[in-house]
Amino acid sequence: MSVASIYKRYRVKVSGIVQGVGFRPFVYQLARELGLRGFVFNDGDGVVVEIEGEELSIQRFKEKLRTSPPPLSRIDSVNEQEVAVLGDTGFVIQESKQSSAETMVSPDIAVCDACREEMNDISNRRYHYPFINCTDCGPRYSIIESLPYDRPNTSMAAFSMCEACAKEYNDPNDRRYHAQPISCHDCGPRVSLLDLDGSVSAQDIEAVNRLCSLILHGKTVAIKGLGGFHLVCDATNEEAVAQLRRDKRRPTKPLAVMFDTIENAKRVSCLSDAEELLLCSKEHPIVVVQKNDENLLAPSVAPGIDRVGLFLAYTPLHILLLEKLGRPIVATSANLSDEPIITDEKTLLTKLGTVVHAVLSYDRKIVNACDDSVVQVASTEKIMLRMARGYAPKSLPLPKKMSNKILALGANQKNSIALGFGDHMIISPHIGDLVSLDAVEYFERTLETFKRFYGFEPEVVVCDKHPGYETTLWAKKLAKERLSVRLIELQHHYAHALACMAEYGLNEPVLAFCFDGTGYGDDGTLWGGEVLIADTQKYERVNYLRSFKLIGGEKAVKEPRRIALSLLFECYSLDEIILMDNPTVKSFEHSEIKILHTMYQRNLNAPASSSVGRLFDAVASLTGIAQVLGYEGESGLLIETEVHSEITDTYDYKIVDGIIDWKPMLSAILNEASQKDVAAKFINTLCTIIVDIAHKYPELPVVLSGGVFQNRYLVEQLLKQFKKERIRYYIQTDTPINDGGIALGQLYYALHKEQK
Ligand code: ZN
Ligand code: ZN
Ligand code: FE
Repeated sequence: MSVASIYKRYRVKVSGIVQGVGFRPFVYQLARELGLRGFVFNDGDGVVVEIEGEELSIQRFKEKLRTSPPPLSRIDSVNEQEVAVLGDTGFVIQESKQSSAETMVSPDIAVCDACREEMNDISNRRYHYPFINCTDCGPRYSIIESLPYDRPNTSMAAFSMCEACAKEYNDPNDRRYHAQPISCHDCGPRVSLLDLDGSVSAQDIEAVNRLCSLILHGKTVAIKGLGGFHLVCDATNEEAVAQLRRDKRRPTKPLAVMFDTIENAKRVSCLSDAEELLLCSKEHPIVVVQKNDENLLAPSVAPGIDRVGLFLAYTPLHILLLEKLGRPIVATSANLSDEPIITDEKTLLTKLGTVVHAVLSYDRKIVNACDDSVVQVASTEKIMLRMARGYAPKSLPLPKKMSNKILALGANQKNSIALGFGDHMIISPHIGDLVSLDAVEYFERTLETFKRFYGFEPEVVVCDKHPGYETTLWAKKLAKERLSVRLIELQHHYAHALACMAEYGLNEPVLAFCFDGTGYGDDGTLWGGEVLIADTQKYERVNYLRSFKLIGGEKAVKEPRRIALSLLFECYSLDEIILMDNPTVKSFEHSEIKILHTMYQRNLNAPASSSVGRLFDAVASLTGIAQVLGYEGESGLLIETEVHSEITDTYDYKIVDGIIDWKPMLSAILNEASQKDVAAKFINTLCTIIVDIAHKYPELPVVLSGGVFQNRYLVEQLLKQFKKERIRYYIQTDTPINDGGIALGQLYYALHKEQK
């Protein structure tokens, strides 16, 4: 028998996230291990492999390709085809056939175990090197100027590789083969400690040492991370944390705490397996977890709540610092409230020079800003609260190619944008609340970045229906300036439902519970307690929360007591209310109540709303849990903290003509003595309402989306019920369930509309 007859040759095309993630060297090493011949190269759609050899080895190769690809890759499809045997003599990596504009930009990834081991190995040439990285870890998005992802197109272009690094970079057997940010003590970026006038006071390990001593002395400092600066102080020093809060003008919103190891993180928290896995995952997000009773952290870290946001050091620089410090640090985005994260020394010193005592920086530019991601676990599901470093930019594959380029601009709070082209949906990292000039500029900058990456000019632009959103104004301006651009305005809560459908690729009708803060409704009122029967073309509003007035508009959103008072006005006379003995009424002067009553009666700046988020506010006020909020979502968190899971009772509720009435619940709450009873029963009631409505539409799967589902206890109760009663459901886990997901929902709608 001739060799050719037992040898076979296959052409295998792999698509997905397979470029810039070490896929070719993985294929190269695998082929060599199995004695296969042929070649591998990148093309416009992914990676192309030709392998030739014994059939059994080829089978093993294909199996390994699927089961153990490089950690940062994601295989969306594998196509194979048998071709004629050519008699190659070895296996080679060939030059890329074309640089593809569709190569996905990978997110920044936390330092991997192998690199961490090397940096702690005194005999390694990168011992204590603060920028160690490899193909499996390190910066990506934050250093990329343009595609393709090659070193000259990144902010590493300023550093030329030394001989030793170049050797590793060019060796397909090395784990730093084509690791674009490869560097070492001899050739890479350097750390500096800056004084407040911007002068360098120390460098390298000495800079880290001096910074440590400032932190140990209770000072606030700034540290340059991957996607921006953090404000940092000793997380165990109450005075230091309280000072940082005053300086940042952030009275109560929880601060994230960074640890060097998972073991140390466990000393302050009770972690489930799922939470531990998330903390240690390659993304290293901030995970919001339960505090334990040890009280090792300063009380001001997360006042009034039983949760705390933890994360593990995700760059070698952070590891060096924390190992030296021997204690956790508060690490919060360096910005003034409502402004985007700061990425350069100059801005930092201008804006926060009075707050920090020194700045630990380095000479590699942050090209694209990126905040830390925030997630939590409900039951075993990951809930994405902020999608940024590690997760974004995120690409979701589409089953077929689109002909049009679609740009979705998202909402005004927690803004992100989404792009649709080819067979990709791409979501940007969290941009933030578009409530300051700087924030809007950051939005525009991010938009330009993504357009540049992908050579993208939108043919269709999608925005929210809210006439006052910055994004709506922006979209309308674009459509006016460029007549070829089609404008789609989409209802906010429908977009929430679609975001969930997009994550799961759903095309069937669903029963969507869009429980949220406030969003602009089709009738001009502020929705947020909507039950929609929705598909990708249309929706019907089948149920909604009985509406009430937000007295003072925006002011009511910050003052739960105004909402609670508004509910009371709906049910009782002014005289009755003034005689009431409850925390809401007691928080006002009688004269104030009278003024607010006039506003209520005459509809003076008192828009109607059906928002469940605002109902949470009302409950927080009526129980005395919160009258005025320090940050958005605080009332939900405070209520959750009060919940006792042993309390399983619920309040009565009615649905009349599709309207979910809270009146029976209100009168019951007024007669309740304990905060804890109210907190649990209120959430249990919401859960019952959802399950009851779901039972009315047994043929429809349930979709949960909107800011209210950031409430962990509510989601846990719901999922338990759904499982018990065999209700089919979908809840976002890989994309933001709050307004950060709106752009994705908008995009999903437009791409179906355009495909028709
Ligand atoms: Zn690594
Ligand atoms: Zn080097
Ligand atoms: Fe929303």
